[in-house]
Amino acid sequence: MTNRNLLRDLTLLLLSGTILLSAYEAGKSLLHPHVPSPQSRQIVIIVSGLVTLATAFINQRRQDRLTAALSAEVDRHTQAENAARTALQYARNLIDSSLEMIIAVDGNRRIVEFNRKACELFDYEPGDILGKPVDILYDRPDDSSKIEEAMARNGSFAGEVTTRHKDGTRFGCFLSASRLLDSKGQPCGYVGISRDISERKAMEALQRAATTDRLTGICNRYQFEESLKDEMERSKRYQTPLSLLMFDIDHFKEVNDAHGHLVGDEVLKTLTQIVQDRIRKSDCFCRWGGEEFCILAPQTTREQAVVGMEKIRNLVADHHFPEGVRLTISGGLTMLRADDTNEHLIKRADDALYRAKAKGRNRIECESEA
Ligand code: GH3
Ligand code: MG
Ligand code: MG
Repeated sequence: MTNRNLLRDLTLLLLSGTILLSAYEAGKSLLHPHVPSPQSRQIVIIVSGLVTLATAFINQRRQDRLTAALSAEVDRHTQAENAARTALQYARNLIDSSLEMIIAVDGNRRIVEFNRKACELFDYEPGDILGKPVDILYDRPDDSSKIEEAMARNGSFAGEVTTRHKDGTRFGCFLSASRLLDSKGQPCGYVGISRDISERKAMEALQRAATTDRLTGICNRYQFEESLKDEMERSKRYQTPLSLLMFDIDHFKEVNDAHGHLVGDEVLKTLTQIVQDRIRKSDCFCRWGGEEFCILAPQTTREQAVVGMEKIRNLVADHHFPEGVRLTISGGLTMLRADDTNEHLIKRADDALYRAKAKGRNRIECESEA
């Protein structure tokens, strides 16, 4: 290609030199017909030939330099493009190999990134979801607005949200999202990393169902017995007092008979709330069964327990329950002894409760000191 250009340039220049020379000769013959000079003609031919060669050479060098610079530039661009493509591919693989869902939205809350895990869990193809408003992923509009508020307030959000699969079924996610900024430092959307926690939620629900009383929401007998074992062990090891109160609603059957079972249920819930609000966080309150309850109070002396339980008894007696129902409770209180099993402890509380009933109800009966 270069040689062909050189040949073409040489030919052109020789041709133009010859034309120039002929023109010069013709002009000179017209002006001075009597002085034809063959030497001067040869010199002119040689000079014009040399000039032509030099010009062609210089042109060629210039063109070579230009070509080399251009091809170096092209190489540089190609390399930069390849590096950018590799980096992009790397980032893509990184995002897609994540075990968490990565979703990014732009300033108009439209989805601009939806990684492979997100496609898999939400059951969308990237083409179906990119460019769509992010709200279609949330099950509750308030989830969406609470994220927005957190973003506006402190540029990030972390919490549980309820999301929807493509087919509309719900699943729980833990989302941590942070604001994205553009090159001028202005907010331009946010990126969220989230994890499907529906299995964990299902496990928690199962555990709750196994350990909680359905009607009142406090712990059930099974959970109470577990706590009792732990607290007894701790109290024995550290030699701290542990008190147990068992109480029962007086004449509760009459409430059901007079107002029906549903009102009876409401009364049970209200009573639970009254007691729950009064006891300490470290106390364990359980529905032992029917209208019988237990309170396990760690690090509580007999005197402290009597005071606390009398307060509860008075609160219940003074309360106006649904449908104008008035109630009293009777309770039996006992303290942990060094050689106690949990059966011993419960039996003594139950016996004390029986005595409280026998002595006329609406009273707390303490076991006699061992
Ligand atoms: P006492 O003072 O001797 O304890 O009299 P009582 O009427 O409370 O005792 P009894 O054991 O004879 O009756 C308890 C009643 O509690 C009977 C039962 O229908 C009612 N009960 C137990 N569980 C529930 C419940 O979940 N909801 C409602 N509404 N009533 C319940
Ligand atoms: Mg009763
Ligand atoms: Mg009873």
